[in-house]
Amino acid sequence: MGRHALLSASSSKRWLSCTPSARLEEQFQEESGGSVYAEEGTAAHALAEHKLKKALKRRSKRPVSDYHCDEMEECTDGYVAYAMEQVELARQECSDPVVLIEQRLDYSAYVPEGFGTGDLLIVADKVLTVIDLKYGKGVAVDAEWNPQMMLYGLGALELFDALYDIETIRMVIYQPRLESVSTWEISVKDLMEWVEMELKPKAVLAIKGEGEYHSGDWCRFCRAKNTCRARAEEYLRLAQMEFKAPPLLSDEEIAEVLKVADELAKWSADVYAYAQDEAVTKGKKWAGFKLVEGRSNRKYTDEEEVAQVAQKAGYTDIYKKTLIGITEMERLLGKKKFAEILGKLVYKPQGKVTLVPESDKRQEIAAATAEADFKEE
Ligand code: SF4
Repeated sequence: MGRHALLSASSSKRWLSCTPSARLEEQFQEESGGSVYAEEGTAAHALAEHKLKKALKRRSKRPVSDYHCDEMEECTDGYVAYAMEQVELARQECSDPVVLIEQRLDYSAYVPEGFGTGDLLIVADKVLTVIDLKYGKGVAVDAEWNPQMMLYGLGALELFDALYDIETIRMVIYQPRLESVSTWEISVKDLMEWVEMELKPKAVLAIKGEGEYHSGDWCRFCRAKNTCRARAEEYLRLAQMEFKAPPLLSDEEIAEVLKVADELAKWSADVYAYAQDEAVTKGKKWAGFKLVEGRSNRKYTDEEEVAQVAQKAGYTDIYKKTLIGITEMERLLGKKKFAEILGKLVYKPQGKVTLVPESDKRQEIAAATAEADFKEE
């Protein structure tokens, strides 16, 4: 069996939303070697696992990785402190809670061949807690109705339901680099209702590659996204908006364009990047397009030699010294020292005023403030 299940927990939002996607994806190779972000995430998980085992007085050998840095140390320390707090809370409710780290969770009783790995499980008398560490800096993920966490919860129930009288599953998504901890609880009864109403029927379709294609934000993680017809049709349909007379667009029509513009731009950028990659790496020819060399800037062949020659010619004022950036400085000093020594000398300027959909989590600013900020630019 591979490292990832076809109907994996981490891709469950996608295959539950678009059931044929799991099979369609099979014809596209997984990215070889994994991205730098994935490797960094793996290193952070290994370090967190080690520190947590130590905190629980278990044997563990500290892993070695080129990705280790002060930020990773601090993030994993924070995670372990949070995890130990949760273990303590469980101990108050139950004298001997079970704590499992990096536990394989098998939910194949509900989803064919389904399994995943839970970062941390705390099993107490009535409550089973599943904690997932996400090291990325992308978007804050909500634990509420999160299918990945619910599948982990099901896998954990499979292991412990017979031994413990579990009534509630508590799910936590811990994202230290986004300072986000999202928590949600669901009763076992409600979870099982979701299994019957939603999970099982969709998993049956997904394993056979059946059901309706349905595009949405989950397409970002689909290997078929660049050439998926359903996705293309959806975006082209959005692009073919029908506007009637009069000759100028109404406010309502402009709002309609805004709603789709962002998604359309992302989709067309995906297709463009795919086509370019095919042309560059496989020599693929696209009708009406050609490969050209991009613009480039002049470069020194050898900086040391340039300095020597310029100085010999009498030009000595050729170096400049600049202060290292905030991130690099923070890395150099460590977060605590940085805050202590330089905290007062750092400020956060106001962000550029941007028009975003109402669903965006940032707070709305008043139009007058926005106009003033715009003019200051
Ligand atoms: S790209 Fe989107 S619509 Fe197409 S198969 Fe993948 S998830 Fe489904």
